[in-house]
Amino acid sequence: MQRTFFMIKPDAVERGLIGQVLTRIECRGFRIVQLKMMTADKDLIAAHYDHLVDKPFFPKLVDYMTRGPLVAGIIEGPEVVNSWRDMMGVTNPLEAAPGTIRGDYATAPVDGNFYNVVHGSDCPEAAEREIALWLGH
Ligand code: UDP
Ligand code: MG
Repeated sequence: MQRTFFMIKPDAVERGLIGQVLTRIECRGFRIVQLKMMTADKDLIAAHYDHLVDKPFFPKLVDYMTRGPLVAGIIEGPEVVNSWRDMMGVTNPLEAAPGTIRGDYATAPVDGNFYNVVHGSDCPEAAEREIALWLGH
C-alpha cells in the first residue's frame, strides 16, 4: 500500500469543487486518511515548491496558493502516487486531457500561470517530504 500527499488548491475551494474532487478520489477506490483545510503562508509555499523559487512565475504561484483556504490531505491505495497524478492530468490546463480533473475543471492559463485545481506529489519520496512539511508526520 502506498500513500501520497494531495491538495485541493484555493481556486477549487473558491469554486465549490471540494466535493467533486473528493468524490473522484473515493470513486477510484482510494482511501482518504487525512484532510486539513488551512490557508498557507509564503514560507510554506516556498518550502513546498523549493525547486521553483527561481522561476519567473513563482511570485504569482505564491499569490495563488496563499490567496485563500486550501485542502491538504493524504490518500492511500496501490500505486496511488502515479494514479493520482494520472487522475489530475498534466500541469498546463490547455494540455490536460478531458476526463482528468485538470482537463475537466481547470481554467485557462493567465500569462503562464496555471490555476489548475489540484496538487499531487510526483514520487513516493516527495510524498513523504510533503506529508511531513504540511501535516507534520
Ligand atoms: N506553474 C505555473 N506555470 C508554469 C509551471 C508551473 O503556474 O509554467 C504552477 C502550477 O500551479 C503548477 C505548480 O506551479 O501546478 C507546480 O509546478 P509543477 O511543475 O510542480 O507542476 P505539477 O506537479 O503541479 O503538475
Ligand atoms: Mg509538482
